[in-house]
Amino acid sequence: MLSRSSLWQRLSGASLWPLAWALAAACTVPWLAPERWNGQLAGRWVVLGALAWSLTLPLLRGRRWIVVPLALGLAGFTFLGLARKARWEAALPSGFLAVEGRIAAPWTLQGERLRTQLELSAPEVLRGLALPLTVPAEGELPPPAPGTPVRLRAELRPVQPAPVFLAERPLWRARSDEAPRRIHLTSAQLMEATGPPAPSLLLRLQTLARRRFEALPLGPTARDLWGALALGIPPVDEAHFSVFAESGTLHILVVSGLQVTLVMAVLEALWRRLRLRGAATGSIAAGLLYSALVGFSAPVWRGLFMGIAWALGRSSGWKLPPAAGLHLALGLWLLGHPAAGAEPGFLLAWWALLGLLWGAEPLAGLVSPLLGRLALPFGRLAAPWLSTLPLLALLHGGAPWWGILANLLVLPLVAFLTPVCLALILVPIPGVTQGAATLLTWMGDRLVPALTGIAPLATGILWPWLLLTLGWLILAHRQGTLRHTRALTVGLVVLSLGLLGFHGTGRAPATLSLESVDIGQGDALLLRVPGGGATLIDTGPGPWSGRRLARVLSRRGVREPVHLVLTHAHGDHAGGWATLSRLWPLAATSVPVTAEEEDPWLPFRPPAGADPGGLLRGDAWTRGEAAFSVRWPSSAFALPDANMESVVLRVTWRDRELWLMGDALAIQERDLLDLGDPGPSPHRLLKAGHHGSRNASDPAWVAALKPEVALIPAGFHNRFEHPHPETLATFRREGLIPWITGSSQGVRISAQDGGWRIDTGEGATAFTPLRKSPTP
Ligand SMILES: [Zn+2]
Repeated sequence: MLSRSSLWQRLSGASLWPLAWALAAACTVPWLAPERWNGQLAGRWVVLGALAWSLTLPLLRGRRWIVVPLALGLAGFTFLGLARKARWEAALPSGFLAVEGRIAAPWTLQGERLRTQLELSAPEVLRGLALPLTVPAEGELPPPAPGTPVRLRAELRPVQPAPVFLAERPLWRARSDEAPRRIHLTSAQLMEATGPPAPSLLLRLQTLARRRFEALPLGPTARDLWGALALGIPPVDEAHFSVFAESGTLHILVVSGLQVTLVMAVLEALWRRLRLRGAATGSIAAGLLYSALVGFSAPVWRGLFMGIAWALGRSSGWKLPPAAGLHLALGLWLLGHPAAGAEPGFLLAWWALLGLLWGAEPLAGLVSPLLGRLALPFGRLAAPWLSTLPLLALLHGGAPWWGILANLLVLPLVAFLTPVCLALILVPIPGVTQGAATLLTWMGDRLVPALTGIAPLATGILWPWLLLTLGWLILAHRQGTLRHTRALTVGLVVLSLGLLGFHGTGRAPATLSLESVDIGQGDALLLRVPGGGATLIDTGPGPWSGRRLARVLSRRGVREPVHLVLTHAHGDHAGGWATLSRLWPLAATSVPVTAEEEDPWLPFRPPAGADPGGLLRGDAWTRGEAAFSVRWPSSAFALPDANMESVVLRVTWRDRELWLMGDALAIQERDLLDLGDPGPSPHRLLKAGHHGSRNASDPAWVAALKPEVALIPAGFHNRFEHPHPETLATFRREGLIPWITGSSQGVRISAQDGGWRIDTGEGATAFTPLRKSPTP
């Protein structure tokens, strides 16, 4: 099984393994530093750190402990890099500002908006930054051509950090990629061209490729996949994009830039077969041309670095072994991007290659009694799937079931179709273009959707996942240095299969908790009760919120299928339904009963699945120790405003009562009062209706309810300006200040002895004691 070439690869890289450990140490730093940190350092900590590091320097002389000064040094260097980036970002202006710059990328359609990059020339502090810029796709005037110098007054929006209780670090990543502000214009007319377009050579090349691509006669699916594979254009159809993003294998490829590496490696191998000389040069040249056409985005740079390392290593007969080439490429990237360790693409690319290069043989050794000669090919397909499994669980909340099969079917297709599609953009050949389009349509409509089954994995208890991640690094190290790996391989496989079998790690909830997830403008509530399965009320506005909800379920340790209640058929509540249903099993879905002739749920429905159950006033059920009761709608309505049909839920648990109003308005609240609600209860929580708008939370209703805590899901800086000051005044009169989801980055309220504990996604904690004299 062990060829001379692979033995040499390993032997020549054996002494270089401290590099990988140092890199791993550096990658943990952006997870430990707070995201909101402004980069100010306490001088004495820096001095102490430098002193501690200098004490380890004598270890550099011995081979065995060289890893200690190396890891401490690289981690310290990364820390200083993060501080510098944070100080730089904190000093940048935000808010409304007059700016000048140049359109620096072709316009790309994303949903209902066109997106490009604006390379700024003024004001001075922003000079050289290329910030993401979007305008509505349906404008009166087309936006200025790429390369046009423009002047505009725009709001520079800072990137929002993720809730502290979620495995996301968007602010670090934005700082690292030097795109820490975003500009959303309401019209392209707000940009004033100050001269004729003068695109750079690179931009001209990209625009040319884009124009030639757009002229190809392609169906919608083929167009989406063709653009994504060959030119890195995100698919226009959200459904295609979702499938891409969720299917694991493709995700690892495109997000991490590995498709560039893959294509370069395949070209190099082909070239070597055909003419034996110049294979490395040819493959590097092809990689550079490809990157220039796609645009040098962060993942593309990474993929290119790794492709070059591979080509050089191979052409030197592995005198530059993969351990050195790969880790040097990643190390170089890290020096320029200190937050790289917080980038899913960076980590996934690294672990996929660890699995592929060093995990395949130990795995093949395990299965060879069963599979014989097929053991090594199987090991090569299975190892990257297994090695990225813990990372996919931690960063995405699940791993693709069909990862091994997808590696077998999709990887060769991608490696073959990417260069073919690229060549056909430059030189279209009618028959061949049609053939490639047919193959892509089949891949997008049949193959990829068939492989998108996700195994949801709870990561409520972290250490098994971190152990597994570390285990793969240790396995690669041991394998690379020719030590025994069998016991470790068995351990890793058993732990992985065990975690898959138990749907991950998590504990049953100890008390009642309600979390309003920060999904922008919209509702998404996660309700957990002891002894009962989790209930989600609404799914937020779109595929993105569906994906965030899957991550939230995973991080909270939910291992069971979820009961979903959709309060009404509005996009800000049901938009994430289809995506969530692909990512997490739903035990049941319920919606209000309506008398409408047309199905209001059509835009949001998952393509397959049973019809949701209908809810009406009086419906009741129990989940664990909690009793659920539907209070609205009181009968089947067909109303012009779906808010008036919104489900109102009452949840009773011990001495607590939750009122979850959906988007119910004051009219329903007054009807509920007429119907005899809310009745007596000692201690209440109110999820206010309709995002705190003034047409909900009627003073009479709030006074009758007398809540002890109130929660308003409203997006940060939302365009409806929810919640309304009048609503806040209503609550103030009742003696409480509501918790608002967007400005707190999510809110979690749990029932504790003697009160309610509130945790916000910003990291704040509060405790509201129970009222002494309960409502009569
Ligand atoms: Zn709403």
